[in-house]
Amino acid sequence: SEITSYLAGAIRAIPDYPKPGIIFRDITTLLGNPEAFRVAVDELVRPYADLAVDQIAGIEARGFILGGALAHQLSSGFVPIRKKGKLPHQTVRMAYSLEYGTDEMEMHVDAVKPGDKVILCDDLIATGGTAEGAVKLLRQLGAEVVSACFVIDLPELGGRKKLESLGVEVRTLVA
Ligand code: 5GP
Repeated sequence: SEITSYLAGAIRAIPDYPKPGIIFRDITTLLGNPEAFRVAVDELVRPYADLAVDQIAGIEARGFILGGALAHQLSSGFVPIRKKGKLPHQTVRMAYSLEYGTDEMEMHVDAVKPGDKVILCDDLIATGGTAEGAVKLLRQLGAEVVSACFVIDLPELGGRKKLESLGVEVRTLVA
């Protein structure tokens, strides 16, 4: 659509970052463009306008920027899912797979309550390993992950399918 190509045009591609052969999708150009940032947030929010959502869970770090804007628009709370060792209170921790090896992410134990309806948010889904870890963490605390949204989908890496196989609806703006 017109909106998709507009947003795609606001995202910069950086060849060979962070390693040779990888094209990094750099959303700082979208975030720094007042109109594009507004359009992206409006489009992410649109399908959820009539939902009662308790929390937006944002994945460190770019998921914080988008997730904070979504939480404001949806009048929900915001929950940070962080790399291990960053959160000050008692946490739950989950290992997740990266391209090479694994890492761990954390949430505060009291960040969501059992039964809370939560939307997961990040800038981009690739293999889905990061989002899968976040879904497991949220579910471990009893939250219901009603949807997961991303500005960018890299469909050839299978992340959308991975999340859908976990029973999570996935919404993305640009492929
Ligand atoms: P996955 O776990 O789905 O393979 O990778 C997605 C995670 O890595 C997200 O947290 C995302 O921010 C980050 N990521 C991977 N590749 C890119 C990229 O090309 N651009 C951006 N902005 N983030 C990326």
